Amino acid sequence: MDLELKVQLVEKLFAQLEEEGAQFQQSSGLGCASGCGKCCTYPQIEASPLEFLPWAFHLFLSGKAENMLDALNGEHGSTCFLLKPVSVVDQGHCDTYAYRGLICRLFGFAANRDKYGSMRLVTCKIISEGQAANYRSVSEAITKGLYVPVFTDYYMQLNQIDFHLGNRMVPVNKALKMAVEEVLHYYSYRPIPDADKCCL
Ligand code: SF4
Repeated sequence: MDLELKVQLVEKLFAQLEEEGAQFQQSSGLGCASGCGKCCTYPQIEASPLEFLPWAFHLFLSGKAENMLDALNGEHGSTCFLLKPVSVVDQGHCDTYAYRGLICRLFGFAANRDKYGSMRLVTCKIISEGQAANYRSVSEAITKGLYVPVFTDYYMQLNQIDFHLGNRMVPVNKALKMAVEEVLHYYSYRPIPDADKCCL
């Protein structure tokens, strides 16, 4: 499968999640605090390279992929390189919100199955404690069948696009780097797509 098609399929998956996530947020009433980016400050975020392929492809089309690779090679911190801190401690903004990864889109508004097969909402303390009553009633509703996006289901769909790039979970900055390397390597011996006619 060519790289542009993979990018389109990952973006289609993101669009599906966007719709399902919006429905869940509407039915649950749960939501992030305005301007909060605390989940992105967690230093052990893991992601797959495939979920950042649209981001890397976009960078490549804008002529910024090589510079980004240099910057990532010089980055030794574990916090996501794309987090731009703001003045408030432990908060920040994603520098590439439109192209953020699958994990960034799922966290907070998706569930995992526990060892008994029950769904558990995976969210942050700000939501589970700050919106405690609602969080409890939504958790209860999920066990009774309220639809919620599920991490493993989405990652399985991602893996079907490219198992090699989708199944490998690595620290987020490594995932970013691998995605950029994948795009640069792919176009090192292929014609560069026309950005104006391309899918992005
Ligand atoms: S890509 Fe953006 S949303 Fe995802 S962890 Fe990094 S800063 Fe946060």
